[in-house]
Amino acid sequence: MTGFALGAEQEEWCGQLRALAADRLRPLADQGEPGRVNRPLLAALGELGLLERVFTSGALELCLLRESLAYGCTEAETALALQGLGAHPVLASGTPEQRARWLPHVRAGRAVAAFALSEPGAGSDAAALALEAVPEGGAGRSGAEGAPAAGGGWRLSGEKCWISNAPEADFYTVFARTGEGPAARGVTAFLVPADRPGLSGEPLDMLSPHPIGRLTFDGVPVGPRDLLGQPGGGFRVAMDTLNRFRPSVGAFAVGMARAALDATLAHTAARRAFGGVLGDLQAVGHRVAEMATRTEAARLLVYAAAGAYDAGSPEVPRRSAMAKLLATETAQYVVDHAVQLHGAVALQRGHLLEHLYREVRAPRIYEGASEVQRTIIAKELYR
Ligand SMILES: Cc1cc2nc3c(=O)[nH]c(=O)nc-3n(C[C@H](O)[C@H](O)[C@H](O)COP(=O)(O)OP(=O)(O)OC[C@H]3O[C@@H](n4cnc5c(N)ncnc54)[C@H](O)[C@@H]3O)c2cc1C
Repeated sequence: MTGFALGAEQEEWCGQLRALAADRLRPLADQGEPGRVNRPLLAALGELGLLERVFTSGALELCLLRESLAYGCTEAETALALQGLGAHPVLASGTPEQRARWLPHVRAGRAVAAFALSEPGAGSDAAALALEAVPEGGAGRSGAEGAPAAGGGWRLSGEKCWISNAPEADFYTVFARTGEGPAARGVTAFLVPADRPGLSGEPLDMLSPHPIGRLTFDGVPVGPRDLLGQPGGGFRVAMDTLNRFRPSVGAFAVGMARAALDATLAHTAARRAFGGVLGDLQAVGHRVAEMATRTEAARLLVYAAAGAYDAGSPEVPRRSAMAKLLATETAQYVVDHAVQLHGAVALQRGHLLEHLYREVRAPRIYEGASEVQRTIIAKELYR
């Protein structure tokens, strides 16, 4: 990338990804069941080497990957991103044994990963999470700074909610309160395989098309070998993961906005009305111009944030928050106006825009709601 434009090789790669999404991944997505994990789709992402890229790419490359897949197949994009979110803590903080056990299967699309941070009582304020890790032997989390007896483990009790890929994932990165300190300082990350006794879950019926559910932990046993990082270091593990993925949530949104924009251009150039086509009407042309301008601004802000991340810039928190905020809000604007300019046909079940209308809403809430991004930006500006 030079200044404001992608290089020829990057453009070519994006074109290949868009073609793969449309020709190879879209048919697999269409065969999946809404709200359920689509294992054939995940296996195809593995075979194509795209899951591997989630773990080896820089931030800009990850953005191009997510944007290009989202353009043609949001289901593939989301399945890929969730593997990254769920497994990045294993890559970054796991032991060699945990990495060897899970990462090859995650990369091949054989093992489904999930990131379990949110709870019914702790969403934006994730540091308030209450899922309790009680040291075995019954010391209780207030005793001995929550530390289990040497070589001992913990029992996890509580609930996680709105967890993507739950309850069908094969393992969960779970953030629990071990009580080394207050709030964020008393949180520990664990890798919990789905077949642990005491772990159950149920799917939730959401507007967003991807799989999502609730998990119940009823004394689930975990030991030192299940730790991801140090006891008390779990909140850092969660935040490092979210920071890495934040610009690329913006890229997902840009991919959807570009798909909606292109569909609108095609539709308004062909739809006949009042003796011409819709695009001849100035009100329509101006609306499309606004959609295109905002999409381009969001795209450039996302690339700039990803570039800053790759360069190790101190501006990453501000730039990433701006990119996620602008891109997700812009995608909502563009998809909504795309629906308006298509008229009734866009609301028919199965239409691209009906699908995007359901997809576009959630990214303004998850991985830091828009208001939370504004708080981060303001804090950085006043620093
Ligand atoms: C489709 C989808 C997938 C998800 N996947 C996952 C997942 O895989 N793993 C996971 O752990 N979680 C996941 N989540 C949960 C998500 O992270 C939370 O929904 C998010 O953190 C917001 O929490 P909340 O919904 O409890 O809203 P709350 O925290 O109750 O906030 C509600 C609203 O209050 C406002 N608000 C909140 N904080 C502030 C603030 N500081 N300043 C101003 N206004 C504020 C915002 O408008 C916000 O939308 C998912 C959610 C959705 C919708």
